[in-house]
Amino acid sequence: MKFATKAIHAGQEPDPTTGAIMTPIYQTSTYVQESPGKHKGYAYARGKNPTRVALEKCIASIENAKHGLCFSSGMGACDAIIKLMKPGDEVIATDDLYGGSYRMFEKIYSPFGIKFHYVDMMDVNNISKFINSKTKMLWVETPTNPMMKIIDIAACAKIAKEKNLILVVDNTFASPYLQNPLDLGANIVMHSATKYLGGHSDVVMGAACTNDDKLYEQLAFILNSSGANPGPMDSFLVLRGIKTLHVRMDRHCENGKKVAEFLKSHPKVDKVNWPGFPDSPNHAIAKKQMKNFGGMISFTLKGNSMEEAFRIASSVKVFSLAESLGGVESLLGHPASMTHASIPKAEREKSGVVDSLLRLSVGIEDGEDLIRDLKQALG
Ligand SMILES: *Cc1c(COP(=O)(O)O)cnc(C)c1O
Repeated sequence: MKFATKAIHAGQEPDPTTGAIMTPIYQTSTYVQESPGKHKGYAYARGKNPTRVALEKCIASIENAKHGLCFSSGMGACDAIIKLMKPGDEVIATDDLYGGSYRMFEKIYSPFGIKFHYVDMMDVNNISKFINSKTKMLWVETPTNPMMKIIDIAACAKIAKEKNLILVVDNTFASPYLQNPLDLGANIVMHSATKYLGGHSDVVMGAACTNDDKLYEQLAFILNSSGANPGPMDSFLVLRGIKTLHVRMDRHCENGKKVAEFLKSHPKVDKVNWPGFPDSPNHAIAKKQMKNFGGMISFTLKGNSMEEAFRIASSVKVFSLAESLGGVESLLGHPASMTHASIPKAEREKSGVVDSLLRLSVGIEDGEDLIRDLKQALG
């Protein structure tokens, strides 16, 4: 089946007792057993819940995966994946990493003896320099946050296979509609389903998918043992969100292109980071591994003034100044003081998160209204 059909139907059957077309919200913590241990596959809701199972099957289907698991947040999914590591193991991660992932790696898992290297993977040859006998995992984000760097997933998969590493791709920014990392050789694909999958800024959720039976069993065991399980209401909301993912993404991409081109032509704007420009770094790879270029854009101002960036951030009227991304409404953020505030200044500047950098999550409103809003805010 094709994407749009899977997005609407995968994992979902009419409710057998009533025929309800939508998967019910099974708001229950436990299930009655016929005799001890004899049940219909559901014993306790931390382990399994039918609304969550429908969502897991749906996400697995649109990621072309054999298995899917859902978590109470994207960070819950990251946490479970890093728990595959043991003290002494090393992980090589993208340098321009989601701030929360960096914080978890450094503040939670480094003290447990897991070592993280942050590498500019725009040139995949940089990765090999950090591989040693302790390296167990490659952690890739593409496009990256907030610099929109593009990393060649298939090339990373080749390295991971040669060196027997687990390749994890955080696919939050692209969504399964634009990019399917497992098809390119990744071992695990993860999502903050809070973003494009949910799509309506009304739920926090995470997901991980894999084709590997052993990794799936390990992750399911960690999910049940550590307890970052999502509730049935949240599972329902994401299940509903996914039904329009393909339609929303097409509009995000269309508006994203318009806004990126507008910014590029504006006299106050210095640099626009958007993988759809033919002269953007690794554009050819973006074209190869993504269906389209998405609605995430970042840009800097001539003069690189933090004050001017703050002024613009407070002047927008259709865009809202807020963290997060991927919802139907357009958001604007200032990474250096918001999402990336936990990364030391020297570290963040090395990867391009300078004082005037602004990040846009272009929504699905009218594209002309979005441009008019940015025009008045830039002044
Ligand atoms: C938001 C985000 C996360 C974390 O997800 P939460 O749902 O907020 O816990 C991880 N990676 C990326 C790229 C994100 O944007």
